[in-house]
Amino acid sequence: ARKKLQKLKKTPAITKDGTAITLLANIELPEDCAGAMEQGAQGVGLFRSEFLFMGRGHHMPSEDEQFEQYKKAVVAMKGRPVVIRTLDIGADKPLDHVEHNALNPALGLRAIRYCLSEPQIFLTQLRAILRASAFGKVRILIPMLAHAFEIDQSLAMIEQAKAQLRDMRVKFDPAIEIGAMIEIPAAALALPMFVKRMDFLSIGTNDLIQYTLAIDRVDYEVAHLYTPLHPAVLQLIAMTISAGKKAGIDVAVCGEMAGDAKLTRLLLGMGLREFSMHPSQLLQVKQEILNSDLEAVTAQTRKIMRSMEPDAIAEALEALQAM
Ligand code: PEP
Ligand code: MG
Repeated sequence: ARKKLQKLKKTPAITKDGTAITLLANIELPEDCAGAMEQGAQGVGLFRSEFLFMGRGHHMPSEDEQFEQYKKAVVAMKGRPVVIRTLDIGADKPLDHVEHNALNPALGLRAIRYCLSEPQIFLTQLRAILRASAFGKVRILIPMLAHAFEIDQSLAMIEQAKAQLRDMRVKFDPAIEIGAMIEIPAAALALPMFVKRMDFLSIGTNDLIQYTLAIDRVDYEVAHLYTPLHPAVLQLIAMTISAGKKAGIDVAVCGEMAGDAKLTRLLLGMGLREFSMHPSQLLQVKQEILNSDLEAVTAQTRKIMRSMEPDAIAEALEALQAM
């Protein structure tokens, strides 16, 4: 079976009825790009940039150092798009020298909240990302957005970083696309606010599940309550995909759900056409896509979405997989 999968590396991800699906890789460091290319990724859907900042004591990476790392990833992907997520620290991803002293760090000053409170750190990163955009197709992804003013401030900071580079006559892609992670339920329930201002969306199911179900994703005592199949979670994901489609902007899923081959058909049935995952999961998900008939999968997914009973959902999901 493993050998059969290996043969799919260069096979395009197309459903039985001929719909092309985009399969992207999640990476933590530019060195992960080689593996992503090897597995046939069509680009990087999530570069978790915080890993350049973690585990290095008091030393923050400089603009030049960050630029070199982002550029390395862009060059390694040979013209394929690279989505770089801005610093998503706090909660389960602490920095050594920053005091993360909130009682509930998952609800605290993390990700974009931290970046907007530290404009120099944020601007430094934005300039580094923009500089890398002169070497290939780069997109910027902002984590943990919930409020309109956070979107507006983030966009203003990106404009400010661009102006600083222009003043120094440094090259970047002026039309760089900017997207939002949809990973707070409030964001999924206020989608018009996002599709109006953003070029694309990426659903962070790991945090979306955590915040929808009020379960700390790293607390083992409540791990049994953590499930992507709660109808509330499914509704929020489906709503986000539909809103993106209606607005004509790309929507990806980059949380763990995207790499779970048991959920591939469910996400296809919800209308998802872009999946980003750990490179090791790409071929299994591709195999599911190759064996899926969109019309049948969509009809069966509608049944699942109408159900509020876990047993019925599990049963319908099994039927979906057996199709
Ligand atoms: C997510 O929340 O689903 C996600 C992709 O980001 P992270 O796991 O890095 O928080
Ligand atoms: Mg997240």
